[in-house]
Amino acid sequence: MAEVKEVNKSHNGIEDIYTPVTHNPENILEVNKLKKYYPIGGGALTKAKGYVKAVDGVSFNIKRGTTMGLVGESGCGKSTIGRTILRLQDKSGGEVLFNGEEVHSISKKELRKLRTKMQIIFQDPFSSLSPRLPVGEIIGEAVRQHGIVPKEEHEAYIDKIMASCGLQPFHKDRYPHEFSGGQRQRICIARALAVNPEFVVCDEPVSALDVSIQAQIINLLKDLQEEYNLTYLFISHDLSVVEHISDTVGVMYLGTMVEYGEKEDIYREPLHPYTKALFSAIPMPDPNTKMNRIILKGSIPSPANPPKGCKFHTRCEHCMEVCKTTPPAQYDAGNGHLVACHLYNK
Ligand code: SF4
Repeated sequence: MAEVKEVNKSHNGIEDIYTPVTHNPENILEVNKLKKYYPIGGGALTKAKGYVKAVDGVSFNIKRGTTMGLVGESGCGKSTIGRTILRLQDKSGGEVLFNGEEVHSISKKELRKLRTKMQIIFQDPFSSLSPRLPVGEIIGEAVRQHGIVPKEEHEAYIDKIMASCGLQPFHKDRYPHEFSGGQRQRICIARALAVNPEFVVCDEPVSALDVSIQAQIINLLKDLQEEYNLTYLFISHDLSVVEHISDTVGVMYLGTMVEYGEKEDIYREPLHPYTKALFSAIPMPDPNTKMNRIILKGSIPSPANPPKGCKFHTRCEHCMEVCKTTPPAQYDAGNGHLVACHLYNK
């Protein structure tokens, strides 16, 4: 049977062509050729001069109860993916299926219900908490609004969630400025968990914290995942942290996913030249082990004017003629280890 392709124009005129995915119930999230373009210039009556292609046709699935790590340099589109999945911003193309339902097609009323199932923990625990509300109110506000538990059980429920996150009942009456960075991140986690989510985007949740506190928060996230059967999309530029928490890993470069697979496969044998360079910078715990650091030449090109062909070709030491003109397809190196590079076109 011929492949059925969706062809339509999104609200900003970007042509969107993709083959709709068939939902697999094992997956909580299915992202198919997701695009997020930001217009340059233009207005209500004038056309945009061009687009910043922050996310340009990214696909991946996340199985229920697992963690997918998303890594890459700053500006590669990691956080944009997280926010577009949650519909905190509109997509420019592609599909985002949560439990088989297209997140960007549902009504505002349905979206409000879905918000409790999909939560986010932000990088900066200092700015993501209202300074005017006591902690009990910050955590309990959405619980009340969404009627998560009956009114008479509200206090006991908040106490339970706080205890799961290592917070004491007396912390409820205190204000965010009275807490350390690590404790504030615990409050953010408690707030996200209180509405009983199934899926949480963790957007650099430990980057703003001291190294000693980072391990506590990561272990807390792992414990909570087990207790509540949570699924995480863990966005980070810290490869050691991602290795510790993830089951699968996606590597982003300039709005595209260049490599994806099981964590063990990606860390044991990275295939894409960009992944190899990125991973060569991971510090070795043994000072006697020699690091074979691969230094990338040049800087990351602008996503408003990305290179033709393979977007990495301007920095790749293996660049061939075909790389300058033709974007590579994704090749499966076995066990679902996907790599977008012409070197693997056998
Ligand atoms: Fe390098 Fe070519 Fe592979 Fe791109 S496709 S990473 S330029 S070898």
